[in-house]
Parts: sequence; C-alpha cells; structure tokens
Amino acid sequence: MYHSWELKLCATHSHPMELQTFRSISFAGHGRFWKHSISGRKCFSKNIKTLVSCSYSTEENDTLPSVKQLCNAKVIYAVAPALGHNKESHPESSARVPAIVTALEKMELTSKFRGSDILELQNFKLASADDIASVHAKAYVLGLEKAMDRASEQGLIVIDGSGPTYATATTFCESLVAAGAGLALVDSVVAASKNQLDPPMGFALIRPPGHHAIPNGPMGFCVFGNVAIAARHAQRIHGLKRVFIIDFDVHHGNGTNDAFLDDPDIFFLSTHQDGSYPGTGRIDEIGHGAGEGATLNLPLPGGSGDTAMRTVFDEVIVPCAQRFKPDIILVSAGYDGHVLDPLASLQFTTGTYYMLASNIKQLAKELCGGRCVFFLEGGYNLDSLSYSVADSFRAFLGEPSLAPGFDNPAILYEEPSTRVKQAIQRVKHIHSL
Ligand SMILES: [Zn+2]
Repeated sequence: MYHSWELKLCATHSHPMELQTFRSISFAGHGRFWKHSISGRKCFSKNIKTLVSCSYSTEENDTLPSVKQLCNAKVIYAVAPALGHNKESHPESSARVPAIVTALEKMELTSKFRGSDILELQNFKLASADDIASVHAKAYVLGLEKAMDRASEQGLIVIDGSGPTYATATTFCESLVAAGAGLALVDSVVAASKNQLDPPMGFALIRPPGHHAIPNGPMGFCVFGNVAIAARHAQRIHGLKRVFIIDFDVHHGNGTNDAFLDDPDIFFLSTHQDGSYPGTGRIDEIGHGAGEGATLNLPLPGGSGDTAMRTVFDEVIVPCAQRFKPDIILVSAGYDGHVLDPLASLQFTTGTYYMLASNIKQLAKELCGGRCVFFLEGGYNLDSLSYSVADSFRAFLGEPSLAPGFDNPAILYEEPSTRVKQAIQRVKHIHSL
C-alpha cells in the first residue's frame, strides 16, 4: 500500500542535493516510498514552475477504517515521513521516519505480521488552515506558504522565527500532512473509545516535529505544533475538555508550553534535560492567570536515566494526571533522551521508553477511557530511535520488551541520584503533589 496523498511539487530548477536525496530514498528498499520518490523525480525533471498543490491520490480506497477495524486494533499509527523536507547532514532528516518503519517491519510489528492488532491509517486529510490557526498566528501560516516560492527557487531556505529551522519547497505541504496525521489519529482513537473500554493506542510517526514551534513562527526544527493543534482539535471537534500533555523529549516543549500557559483545561507536563535547548522550562514556570498550576516543568540533571524517569513517572506524572482528571492524554514522544542520542546527555534506554509507553497506556486506561495518542518529536540516532519506537509498539500490544537485546548496560554511568531526588522533591512541593 502506498500513502494516499501525494505532493505535486515542481521546482524551477532542481537542486542537485535534493535530487540525490530523493534518489537515495527511492532505493532504500522500502516499497511504500517508491511512489513518492519517483513522483518527486518526475516533477524535478519536468522542471515545472513552483509548488502546485497538495492533493490526495484517489487510486486507493479513501475511506477511514471502520469502527470494527478500529475496535479490533491495539495500535493504530499513521506515517508522514516528509521526504522532501530534508537538509544534508541535518540531524532532523528525512531518514528518520523510514528508519522507524523499517524497524517495525523487521521486528514484525505491522499488520502484515499481526493482522488486525496493528492498523496503519492510510487515508488521512491534511490539516486545514483553520486547524493550524487554532494554535498559530494566521500571518505565520500565510507567510510560510508564501515562502515556498522562494524555497522552490533556492532549494533550501531558513524560515524566519526564533530558532534555526530550514524549509524546502515541500515544507509547508508536508507539515500539513504531519499535523493532519495527528488529527486523524485523535479522531480514530476517540471513535474507538465510544465502543470499547480499551481503544487502540495511537502513534503519529510524523515530521517535521512540533513542540518547539511557537504561535508566531517555527523554532528548533519544528514547523507546526502538532500536539498542540491536536489538543485544540480534541476540545473543539470531540468536546474533550481536559487534555493532559506529557512531553518526555529531552528538550523543553516551549511551543506547547506557551500555547497553553494561561489555559486551565490543558495540562502541560514536560521533563527535559536541565540547561538544554532552548533554555526555557525552569521548574518555577507553572503557567499563569487561570492556567497557573496547569504547567509542570521538571528539568532533570544531565546523566539522569532509567531510574530517574521511573521515579518521575510514579511520583510526579501519575499523581498529577490523577488530580487533573483528563479526557484524553497526548504525548510528545521524543527519543533524544536516549543514551545513544547525539544531541543531549540523558541516559534513557530503550527499556525506559518501553516503560513510558506501557505506563502511559495504563494511565490512559485508568483515567480517560484509554484515549491516548503519541506524537513523534525528537530522536536523532536512527538505531535507538527506531528500536525505542518499535519497543513502544510492543508495550502497546502488551508484549514483553525486547530492549535487553538492544540496550548495553556497560555504556551507562552512575545517575546523579541526589540531584534527581532534589528536583523531584522541589517539583512536588511547588505543585503540592
Ligand atoms: Zn528534542
């Protein structure tokens, strides 16, 4: 099966690097990416002017899964790899999502091997301008769309904003696809939850990531706040008033934080490495106005690992969520806290991510009818990223972790347990947990 959408992208001239990128992906050996890759090449060779449009392919069945299919599934996921949004040697590269998809196949975690237990959402709509505008300024959305002309002429541009974020001619379109995947997963999980107590866990395998994007612009590799947009969608379309967002990416999710700073109905809880990009998310940032107390930031000292995160889950995340009583849990799932990740220095392992996936699933079951969707954020070592996501799928299926076969305890060093304890005590005190 191929993706149901295609990008009708054409450039005034083909940037040699991009052409190479498309080619290398097309030979990566994963059938699903062929069509996208080939259409990219065709477009480039035709040399037609500028971005034409995003559209859906009508070649395939374009209906969403039936309620029966949704209810039979234990995991439902959507793939939005943003193959055209790529920069040579950049860590947030177009190889990330294909690496995950390849790992899922290798570890037999697709419907081909698991039948109805695992469902890939094939046909989903792009997010609309209104969806994006529920979080971002219209001027930013329009400005980014306009900038695509320049991107198609120059091949790659840096878009205006508070952090270095690149864009190619497909960035706008592919960012709408990414956000749309998240919305469709929320729709699917909510639909299933109306018919059963144990709906499937959702996972949006998407990029560009979103949690740094601020209302007025992109930031830190992020274009649109996928998780924030989904939170507003859950409220607006499904009447799910109270949304609990857990962000375990190694970096502070400043964009999500800022979007809901004064909103008492959206609780944002972020763990991140103290002192890492972008420097926000101090422990005393707790929201303001009506939203005071509905933002919890827990910076963890460098070197914090599995033991720290297990304690944080039990002593901070669980009581916080229990008190908040959410209607849905959304997760900014970043895998850059892994000990092998090149961009930070926490010591999470694949086993840590399995624990998080398993425990969050349980939490959602206890508190909000099992309604829960994960959104891919960071994670830049392709091996630890893809195995950690795959092991999270196993957690969703209720199967044992395969992390011991991947994690190497010999590379771990002692966690700064005293400083971790102090941070946990402090956050518990601030939030009366
Ligand atoms: Zn990150």
